[in-house]
Amino acid sequence: MSPSLSSFVEAYREAGRIAAEVRERAKRLVRANKRLIEICDRVEGWIMELGGAPAFPCNLSINEVAAHYTSPLGDRSVVPDRSIVKVDLGVHIDGYIADTAVTVCLNPEYEDLKRAAEEGLQAAIEVLRAGIRASEVGAVIERKIREWGFKPIRNLTGHRISKYNLHAGEVIPNVHSRLCRQRLAVGDIYAVEPFTTLPTAAGEVVNGAWGHICLFQRKRPVKGRTAKEMLSFIRSSYKTLPFAERWVLRRFPSEVGKEAFQELLRSKCLHTYPILVERSRAPVAQAEHTVLIRENGCQVLTEL
Ligand code: MN
Ligand code: MN
Repeated sequence: MSPSLSSFVEAYREAGRIAAEVRERAKRLVRANKRLIEICDRVEGWIMELGGAPAFPCNLSINEVAAHYTSPLGDRSVVPDRSIVKVDLGVHIDGYIADTAVTVCLNPEYEDLKRAAEEGLQAAIEVLRAGIRASEVGAVIERKIREWGFKPIRNLTGHRISKYNLHAGEVIPNVHSRLCRQRLAVGDIYAVEPFTTLPTAAGEVVNGAWGHICLFQRKRPVKGRTAKEMLSFIRSSYKTLPFAERWVLRRFPSEVGKEAFQELLRSKCLHTYPILVERSRAPVAQAEHTVLIRENGCQVLTEL
């Protein structure tokens, strides 16, 4: 490996080690009646303590919510009794990102649903190598999940990662798909993330309420002085990575901050992601690792 290749791999590895450590700690933090904002803040705080930066806000997605929930400022919601909770977190070091997720079951009824997502991920890891088509990986994931008696979510996918780019174009589906014919190459970084739901469910997500995860979209004229300052803070701090409304409002407190944030949304400088909900409101589980594609296999970067 050339020195430049090995040094970027080292940054990905370090991001992966931090992500794995924080994921294991987060698992122990999720308990019924725990405040969601406390979990989000702790997860993001640990990432920074360990020398990384959050690559996106901590996602806490409960029951039929599959992805993209993070706490707003002042969130009073708590982990419900007997729920199934997906904790999805990202770490970056100089823009090199590791993305990983785990499901915590507070209801033993969902253990197999969670297990099916983990087994789907494991089956994918066993076949990932340079030259395989993304569609073939999707077929392997789907087969494993169906073996367990569950259904994959067909419109959520794994994704290639590049520097400062969480969703770098190419995807790895969670189902057998005629699309996604691209072959993986040595040195590619991919997040693989099977989502499972009940066999009787729709097996797809739809947009729910607007969430609190944002992305800088484009530079547009803004009037307010605070809005201008806020925009330059966002661009220099998060660049092209998703960020939490909560992070910005803590930096720009009070009504002035809220108003400036609204102005950035209205002017379309920022984009907000909707929460993704399983269409038939069935419970969803997820497992995710970030991997480095090698000649004859893959290296899991987010393993402890
Ligand atoms: Mn993720
Ligand atoms: Mn991901």
